[in-house]
Amino acid sequence: MTAIVSGSTQLLGVIGCPIEHSLSPVMHNAALSALAQEVLPYVYVPLHIEPANLKSAIQGLANIGCQGFNVTIPHKQAIMPLLYDVSATAKAVGAVNTVWRIEQGWAGTNTDIQGFLSPLEAQPHDWTQSTVSILGSGGAARAVIAACLQLNCEKVQVFGRNVAKLEQLKAEFLTAIPSNPIHVHQWDVLPEHLAETILLVNTTPVGMYPQINQSPVTMDQLQQLPKDAIAYDLIYTPNPTQFLKDATTLGHQTINGLEMLVQQGAAALEIWLRKAVPVEVMRAAARSQLS
Ligand code: NAP
Repeated sequence: MTAIVSGSTQLLGVIGCPIEHSLSPVMHNAALSALAQEVLPYVYVPLHIEPANLKSAIQGLANIGCQGFNVTIPHKQAIMPLLYDVSATAKAVGAVNTVWRIEQGWAGTNTDIQGFLSPLEAQPHDWTQSTVSILGSGGAARAVIAACLQLNCEKVQVFGRNVAKLEQLKAEFLTAIPSNPIHVHQWDVLPEHLAETILLVNTTPVGMYPQINQSPVTMDQLQQLPKDAIAYDLIYTPNPTQFLKDATTLGHQTINGLEMLVQQGAAALEIWLRKAVPVEVMRAAARSQLS
């Protein structure tokens, strides 16, 4: 349903550069339409903001009465010093993806952790006895690490190809949480650590459209996972990725990135509206857009 914009319509949005491929406007506007009888009229728009204009853009958004916005690449870190308040969660991740109005200006948090955790909530695993292996050490990996720390995972292993980045990542999380279970490794030792892995998470773009035949792990490597291990890919296009297809072939439970995307969006909308939001409407809108 198309939102009808009137004189009382409130503004929400997502800032990024580029922004035209974002699924967020479709998801959020579908939910806002479904809630039309219960909340003020809102519209959620994509806002292309160049890095050099970030400070003046968010000041301008405050000036025109914008109620809140999501933040995507490349502004997730850069926006942090421009906010009056940043949640402990966002500080732990080192990135903000959701911003809302407060009296003094803007406040920000990170809902990617909640998004990532949501599909894991129903899992029977005792995470305090579990080893998680994370492939990649970029922005999404940081949210996954913070999520694993929330789960109190026994061991959180991060595999990457850039040693300096891995060490920096570990040092930053060490500062935030002194007794942390994080171990960083170069990519080539991954096979040695798969037999102890209960949750294997791909946070690299390997396998994302259009490289749909690629996987961050070989079939031989996957065969070393315990039978009850879960394969989790943050990628949502294609669905399933080659990584998840291979894991399914070997009998593993799989989770793809769509639910994380939907749940981080739902968590943001709940912050802005201060009420429960129709997650199933957001999921259906995202699926429909992707197909
Ligand atoms: P990013 O900050 O650029 O990080 C990407 C990471 O992948 C880096 O550590 C990079 O290593 C590594 N990498 C890239 N190509 C690789 C290759 N060929 N082999 C091994 N490692 C490789 O990106 P991001 O923001 O974390 O996003 C990563 C993926 O997660 C994307 O596919 C994105 O769509 C997905 N994602 C999904 C959601 C969701 O809601 N489902 C949310 C966020 C992100 P170097 O550091 O060595 O370059």
